[in-house]
Amino acid sequence: CGVFGIYAPGEDVAKLTYFGLYALQHRGQESAGIATFEGEKVHLHKDMGLVSQVFNESSLGHLPGNLAVGHTRYSTTGSSRVVNAQPVVVQTRLGSLALAHNGNLVNTKELREELLSRKCEFVSTTDSEAIAVAIGSEVDNGKDWLEAAISAFGMCQGAFSLTIATPQGVMGVRDPHGVRPLVIGILPTTPVRYVLASETCGLDIIGAEFLRDVEPGELVWITEEGMASFHWSQQQKRKLCIFEMIYFARPDSQMEGESLYSYRLRIGRLLAAESPADADIVIGVPDSGIPAAIGFSQASGIPYAEGLIKNRYVGRTFIQPTQTMRESGIRMKLNPLKDVLEGKRVIIIDDSIVRGTTSRKIVKALRDAGATAVHMRISSPPVTHPCFYGIDTDNQDQLIAATKSVAEIGAQIGVDSLAFLSWDGMLRATNEDPLSFCSACFTGDYPIDVPEVVKRSKLI
Ligand code: 5GP
Ligand code: SF4
Ligand code: MG
Repeated sequence: CGVFGIYAPGEDVAKLTYFGLYALQHRGQESAGIATFEGEKVHLHKDMGLVSQVFNESSLGHLPGNLAVGHTRYSTTGSSRVVNAQPVVVQTRLGSLALAHNGNLVNTKELREELLSRKCEFVSTTDSEAIAVAIGSEVDNGKDWLEAAISAFGMCQGAFSLTIATPQGVMGVRDPHGVRPLVIGILPTTPVRYVLASETCGLDIIGAEFLRDVEPGELVWITEEGMASFHWSQQQKRKLCIFEMIYFARPDSQMEGESLYSYRLRIGRLLAAESPADADIVIGVPDSGIPAAIGFSQASGIPYAEGLIKNRYVGRTFIQPTQTMRESGIRMKLNPLKDVLEGKRVIIIDDSIVRGTTSRKIVKALRDAGATAVHMRISSPPVTHPCFYGIDTDNQDQLIAATKSVAEIGAQIGVDSLAFLSWDGMLRATNEDPLSFCSACFTGDYPIDVPEVVKRSKLI
C-alpha cells in the first residue's frame, strides 16, 4: 500500500494528498482514500479503484481542512471490498482518528480478541482497523493521543508504516524493524510544513523536499508546534524489505541515499557477471525489469533493445487479486516487437519470478515473434517463501521456486537457460549492512516472529 500524510493549514491539503497518492499509485490499485480534518470535524472520501477514478475536483472540494492522510490499497489481509478501503476512521473520547497503514500485522487475531474483550467494535476484518481501534480504546481509557498511540503500537507485531490524523495533528510511525518505508518531507512554505509519504516520489510530485526517513521504531508527531520525534520501542535491528529495493518501490524513489534505479542497474550488472549468456540483444520486461536489463547490457556489452511494449493503462497484473483476472490481464498488457526480435538470440531480464505464469507467457510471446533463443535472467533470487509483512507473494504452494529447482523452472517456462541473482549479491549490491534487510521470501528466515498458526496458513 501507499500512505501519505500532511499538516499544512492554509494549503489545499486534500489536493496535495491527491497528488501524493497519484505518485504512490504503483503501491496499490485496489482502492484509494483521503481523510481531512477541519478542526474537530473529519471528512472522508474513499472508494474502490485508482486514485484518478476515486477522486475528481468535486469530491476533493468536499475535503476541506488543515491536515490530511491518504491511502492507496493493495490487499494482503481482508477481502477486496470498500469496507476494507482506507483511511480507517474511528471515533474516540478525544474526537475522530483517521489511519492509513502499509504493511501487515502478524498478531491480528490476538489483537482483535483483546479489543473484543474490551467491547470494541469492528466494521472490517483488516489488521489496519485493529490498530486504529486499539488507539481509540487507549484514548478512551484516559490517555492522550500520543500516549494512546504508543501503547497501542506496543500491542502490534509485524510490519506497519502508518500515517494517522487527529484533530490535533498528524503522526508518522514505523514498526521497530522498519520493514516498510516512510519518509518525511518539507514543503517550502512559510512557515515550513511537514509531509509524510511511503516513498520520496510522493514528495517530489508536490514540490516537497526530502528531509529524512522516519526511523524504525520512531513516531513523529506533527502539530501547530512543528515536528516532535519519539522513539516508542526498544532499538531493534532495521529490516527493510529488500523487495522494496528490487521491485516494489518506484525506481525514481530514493532509499539509502540513492535512487532505486541506481541499485537496479547495479544488480543487472552483477547478474551479467554472475550468469553471462551468449546472445544478440538484451531486453527487459517493462517496467520493473528495465533498469536491471540496462545494467546487464552495460556489463556484458550486448546491446540493449526494447522487445516488449507495455500498455501503461492496464494495472499491474500481480495486484489484481484473482488468478483468472491475472491470466486475462497479462494478454492485454505486453506486446512483443517482431522487427526487433525476429531471428535474434534474446536475453530477457525480469525482477522476479513468483508463480512463473507471467514469465511462461512472455517467453512464448518472444518465440512467437521470432526469437531463436531465449535466455532468462532474474535480478533477484528464487522466491521460495511467502511474505507475512505486507507483500502479496501468495501462499507457498503457489510459488514456483518453493517446489522446483532452477532447471525445472526453466523447463516449465520454456527458456533455453535461466539464472537468478545470488542472495549474497543482491544484499551486497545495496552497499549497506546486509543484516539491515528482510529477505525472508528468499530464505524462510523471518526476522519478526510469525505465530505458528499464521505460518501454517501460508506454508506448504
Ligand atoms: P510470474 O512470472 O511469477 O508470474 O510474474 C513475475 C512478474 O510479476 C515480475 O515481472 C514482477 O515484476 C511482477 N510482480 C508484480 N507484482 C509483484 C509483487 O508484488 N511481487 C513480486 N515479486 N513480483 C511482482
Ligand atoms: Fe519483503 Fe520478502 Fe521480507 Fe516480505 S518476506 S518483507 S517481501 S523481503
Ligand atoms: Mg514485472
